[in-house]
Amino acid sequence: MSSAWDYSPAPESTDMVDIRGDYGLFIDGTWSEPASGEYMKTINPATEEVLAAIPVADETDIDRAVAAASKAFKKWSKLPGSERARFIFRIARVIQERSRELAVLETMNGGKPIKESRDLDVPLAAAHFFYHAGWADKLEYAFPARKVEPLGVAAQIIPWNFPLLMLAWKIAPALATGNTVVLKPAETTPLTALTFASICEQVGLPPGVVNIVTGAGATGAMLVRHPDVQKVAFTGSTEVGKEIQRAIAGSGKRLTLELGGKAANIVFDDAPLDQAIEGIVNGIFFNQGHVCCAGSRLLVQEGVFDALIAKLKHRLGTLRLGDPLDKNTDIGAINSRQQLDKIKELVGAGIDEGAELYQADCPLPERGFWFPPTVFTGVSQSHRIAREEIFGPVLSVLTFRTPEEAVEKANNTPFGLSAGVWTEKGSRILWMADRLKAGVVWANTFNRFDPASPFGGYKESGFGREGGRHGLEPYVRLG
Ligand code: NDP
Repeated sequence: MSSAWDYSPAPESTDMVDIRGDYGLFIDGTWSEPASGEYMKTINPATEEVLAAIPVADETDIDRAVAAASKAFKKWSKLPGSERARFIFRIARVIQERSRELAVLETMNGGKPIKESRDLDVPLAAAHFFYHAGWADKLEYAFPARKVEPLGVAAQIIPWNFPLLMLAWKIAPALATGNTVVLKPAETTPLTALTFASICEQVGLPPGVVNIVTGAGATGAMLVRHPDVQKVAFTGSTEVGKEIQRAIAGSGKRLTLELGGKAANIVFDDAPLDQAIEGIVNGIFFNQGHVCCAGSRLLVQEGVFDALIAKLKHRLGTLRLGDPLDKNTDIGAINSRQQLDKIKELVGAGIDEGAELYQADCPLPERGFWFPPTVFTGVSQSHRIAREEIFGPVLSVLTFRTPEEAVEKANNTPFGLSAGVWTEKGSRILWMADRLKAGVVWANTFNRFDPASPFGGYKESGFGREGGRHGLEPYVRLG
């Protein structure tokens, strides 16, 4: 029996979303069928209902898209920054105007709760375009005393966990710096990227500046290898990131990789525990844990372990899992059957290796892909659930006694994307931040994003930064 209050259903209306039966590839400002004539289905992971047929781009389509982007680059790169800014600003405004449609579509195609797509994904996507519209005519101030030139065609590959937001992280800096783009969304979540193509049409973006090609991993592999691509930006798994790095080694293409993570969220015994609980829940259950910077390893100082775990278990019982379109839902659907299988496999490994499982007692809907909020205690550093990215609503809890031990354990991972520190001592926050090998360290909060703040990792979490002035660098040649 869940201790959550019973809420009446409050589903968001889907009336404003017009999902077409099938989509085209968006190349050179027009919609076209794929050369192969092949389509794949995209579904709603909460219901398994087919939403639309999506074209599978092959070599011929990729050639056309890269040729369109190369042609458009000649004019786009010569436009005054203030002109480029006007287009980027208009994109941001239209994202705001169409925010409800985009949020509903993101939730239907990806399974994330509507309150997250509505309050985080879409507003942050708009914010990225606004922010980069501001840089477009100020590049000489971003890089004083340097000659700033764009690179050419950027091949951009994005994952399924934040489809529109990752698109914004990629496209906004590319356009602001005068590059043109061919972007491939993830196989399971193409709908907001295709709707973004219609936004490009709506704002009158010159043809070929943004091209959207859909397909599976093979389409992405063709795109990054294309000889006329000058820059590759990838967000996704470490495994595919390494494959891309191998594929383009020696080609002279510039590369940024934003890969996986296994972040430590570290709670000291002087932390405000109730506040920390909210940060822990947000850190691992936000977006069903499909977050590269998720706080998936909780490190708790021994003195507060019992109190914290009791509070955490209680809080788990109040999380509402179910229809992602319901405005009261906290935990939506797992993005795909494949991802659900991966989560189950790793949770099985946690049990086999002797960790202690606790799951919220919440009923799971019959159709769709679901996994209950899960906490493992008794985890040791060698367990797979402490080392591998689960990318689901599964928290592994470890303990520590001293700050030195917390640092040692936090850094004992092949990844280095993010970390969190909970303590009331400012000096301790700074001491920890100095020693944690993570691209982002949050203090007394977690999962905070801002377009002005650079984001990216170390080690197997990748390299390069997105956001802020640092995020412009991978898209420019400096003379
Ligand atoms: P992938 O890395 O396979 O997918 C990311 C993107 O890369 C997708 O657009 C994918 O296309 C594309 N892609 C796949 N293979 C290639 C290739 N050889 N060359 C170029 N592009 C390619 O992630 P998965 O969806 O398979 O997820 C697997 C695991 O990766 C997750 O369980 C999670 O641990 C991690 N992950 C991490 C993310 C992060 O933000 N750091 C995001 C997503 C996943 P397609 O979708 O068509 O396969």
